[in-house]
Amino acid sequence: RKAKGAGLGFLFYGPEMNALIAETLILENRLRQALERDEFVLYYQPKTNGASGRVTGLEALIRWNDPEGGVVQPGVFIPILEETGMILEVGAWAIRKALADMQKWRIEGIDPPRVAVNVSAIQLQQKDFVDSVRLAIKACNGEAPSVDLEITESMLMTDLDDNILRLSEIRGLGLDIAIDDFGTGYSSLGYLSKLPVNALKIDKSFIDTMAATPESMTIVSTIISLAHSLGLKVIAEGVEKEEQAKFLRLFRCNELQGYLISQPLPPDEVVGYLRDSLASVQLQ
Ligand code: C2E
Ligand code: MG
Ligand code: MG
Ligand code: MG
Repeated sequence: RKAKGAGLGFLFYGPEMNALIAETLILENRLRQALERDEFVLYYQPKTNGASGRVTGLEALIRWNDPEGGVVQPGVFIPILEETGMILEVGAWAIRKALADMQKWRIEGIDPPRVAVNVSAIQLQQKDFVDSVRLAIKACNGEAPSVDLEITESMLMTDLDDNILRLSEIRGLGLDIAIDDFGTGYSSLGYLSKLPVNALKIDKSFIDTMAATPESMTIVSTIISLAHSLGLKVIAEGVEKEEQAKFLRLFRCNELQGYLISQPLPPDEVVGYLRDSLASVQLQ
């Protein structure tokens, strides 16, 4: 047993560490089973137009319906899917699933808005990523793609040239691209203008503090102006309070998303939600 001070912390196999490794291995196996047994589900969180309140899109957020432990949030298992490479399979599944859910809603009588699927940087780094997206779309009767992608800012800047190429190919397939959690990464302004993207999603941390912290308020309004001057749309994520929404509308933020508008909905509640929101917009 090595001492921690030896600079080889990763060789420190105490009982806690063994337990942690064992737990991770068990979870890894159960995630593999989850994919085989079709236990992953997509929940859908609406995005609304800042000015009209109309639903403009849905974001697909993965959940694991663990028969033993109930609904598991992605923060728990996405890192493991990424470490094991399973994210490639699950990511492709998510695109197919979103398209299939939309098809189901159409059969139930409602024309759904576009659905944005979250994509891990590891997926984008694969040479065959564009092909895998093309395949997923083709598998869905080759219908016009009504899916978009969200990619977090933090990893977009590594392998920038490759990313630019792949993202523009993806856009060529008819998908829109949003940079997720914007403001937390390291995009330089010069690169930002070169990235073939359609929208910036302001990270929730700035929305959380904007009403109480002048610096956050400034960051939010600056991101919105920056996006608009680059010809990009802006979406605010994690809007929880009417006060935040009021400021965001004042700054002309294009779209709002957050618990104030709606929590992520299980797939079988989406049609009802869309019907109600259509009815209430028509009443106004
Ligand atoms: P994200 O894409 O930034 O998604 C926003 C997260 O904030 C979601 O958490 C959502 O449920 C939560 N959220 C939305 N509005 C509010 C709000 O008003 N208040 C609070 N407190 N939270 C709010 P979730 O569903 O746990 O997802 C966490 C992250 O996991 C996502 O962050 C995304 O990066 C990742 N993720 C989710 N689904 C997928 C997927 O299919 N593939 C990949 N690669 N990543 C995914
Ligand atoms: Mg997202
Ligand atoms: Mg986000
Ligand atoms: Mg986020």
